Amino acid sequence: MQMPEPNPSIIARKARIVERLQSVLPPSAVIHKEAETRAYECDALTAYRCPPLAAVLPTNTQEVSEVLRICHEEGAPVVPRGAGTSLAGGALPTADSVILGVARMNAVLETDYENRFIRVQTGKTNLSVTGSVEDEDFFYAPDPSSQLACAIAGNIAMNSGGAHCLKYGVTTNNLMGVTMVLMDGTVLEIGGAHLDAGGLDMLGLICGSEGQLGVVTEATLRILRKPEGARPVLMGYDSNEVAGQVVSDIIKAGVLPVAIEFMDRPCIEACEAFAKAGYPMCEALLIVEVEGSDDEIKEQLDLITDIARRHNPVELREANDADEAGRIWLGRKSAFGAMGQINDYMCLDGTIPVSELPYVLRRIGEMSKDFGLGVANVFHAGDGNMHPLILFDANKPGDLELCEAFGAEILKLCVEVGGCLTGEHGVGIEKRDLMWDQYDRPDMEAQMAMKDVFDPNWLLNPAKVFPLDASDTRRASALAAE
Ligand SMILES: Cc1cc2nc3c(=O)[nH]c(=O)nc-3n(C[C@H](O)[C@H](O)[C@H](O)COP(=O)(O)OP(=O)(O)OC[C@H]3O[C@@H](n4cnc5c(N)ncnc54)[C@H](O)[C@@H]3O)c2cc1C
Repeated sequence: MQMPEPNPSIIARKARIVERLQSVLPPSAVIHKEAETRAYECDALTAYRCPPLAAVLPTNTQEVSEVLRICHEEGAPVVPRGAGTSLAGGALPTADSVILGVARMNAVLETDYENRFIRVQTGKTNLSVTGSVEDEDFFYAPDPSSQLACAIAGNIAMNSGGAHCLKYGVTTNNLMGVTMVLMDGTVLEIGGAHLDAGGLDMLGLICGSEGQLGVVTEATLRILRKPEGARPVLMGYDSNEVAGQVVSDIIKAGVLPVAIEFMDRPCIEACEAFAKAGYPMCEALLIVEVEGSDDEIKEQLDLITDIARRHNPVELREANDADEAGRIWLGRKSAFGAMGQINDYMCLDGTIPVSELPYVLRRIGEMSKDFGLGVANVFHAGDGNMHPLILFDANKPGDLELCEAFGAEILKLCVEVGGCLTGEHGVGIEKRDLMWDQYDRPDMEAQMAMKDVFDPNWLLNPAKVFPLDASDTRRASALAAE
């Protein structure tokens, strides 16, 4: 097959943009050779790929501002990128876009234990934030399973959560302030090292905005004293629905564990084969963890195990020491890797009211039969944040499309029962066209009006979040008005 001739005007435009970027950044920070830009062609939603025009790796807010000013003048779209672990295609480039990666911006700028905050550049990885303060017995609470790799930048953009967010909240509950650069290079300071800020709650708007409004370069994060102790208990049940009911009953009883995690049989089998954590082979496993002093832990565990026993568990195992606690968590923490070893899968993310867990799990089982594709369920059950993993064969023609259709039905079900299209992974491109199932036009218009204010030319992170039929019109009219 003959390759199409390269378009001279596109080549000239790329050369000009690259030259201008090289004028404000060192040579190693501007990646533009095709073979090298391929490193940025996708994030963790690997089914979609597109190498960008170029990728840049600035080291501070000033350089980010200069990059954005140049791209703004050139009309070049910019895709902000942290560590590229988004499961929603949030950091997927377009062919004409510049990836702005913050990976080299990983410094700690200030630590204040008295006032309980740390200020960091946003390329710092989630786990290394806790690593920076743990010698003083502090920690940073949001703990996505990807925390070894993912950056605070992506955590803020996706409002990420994790296993322990049932008690401590998600990123927005632990974020105090940010430095953010607008598409034209303007630098904004939003929030600060204090509890609330005057004026409109801009921080609430920025957290979860998926790179649509600006590039976040620095963040002030709340840090907490480590609890005296923590202890998990493992519970096994004969059915998903019963396990779902146990979760619902624990929440209803008013006790607040730090985490309630759920795994079904396909996931238990994969995790056991991978991590050898000693899990019983049953239909559903729950890991419930509580924190506090010895007395507090005992009081909470008594209540929780009492509820658990009423539902006839096939296994009820309290961890007696750190080693046993580690083994209980080992399988759960390796769940995604374990599933990936045996099957291609698509990881969904939706939220439902906890009381709907038994119904939704049953419906997912029924849909799995209808679509002829397996599902493994592993998720943060305490806050109703589900992660069904749909199993498919990437080499079988039509299987990916079938998987996507199945995924869309599950997410619609989440909305139908009063939940939400996303829990912590964001919308990205994955759920963009499902947004109409969650929002009416006036709601969508109000969100797009925010985009107009911060990024009037719609150059930041194109083709994400807003359904194409809505955002294309908006983008076209914004460009025509220039
Ligand atoms: C194995 C695995 C497990 C996971 N587990 C969890 C989990 O438990 N909880 C959870 O919430 N997520 C989880 N995720 C998803 C993912 O790790 C999170 O969404 C994470 O916050 C993304 O961070 P990142 O730095 O990799 O961001 P990226 O993937 O690089 O980008 C994510 C989004 O943030 C935007 N962005 C990046 N940098 C900036 C910036 N400086 N300014 C503005 N916008 C920016 C991007 O444009 C994109 O829209 C998991 C992913 C994997 C692969």
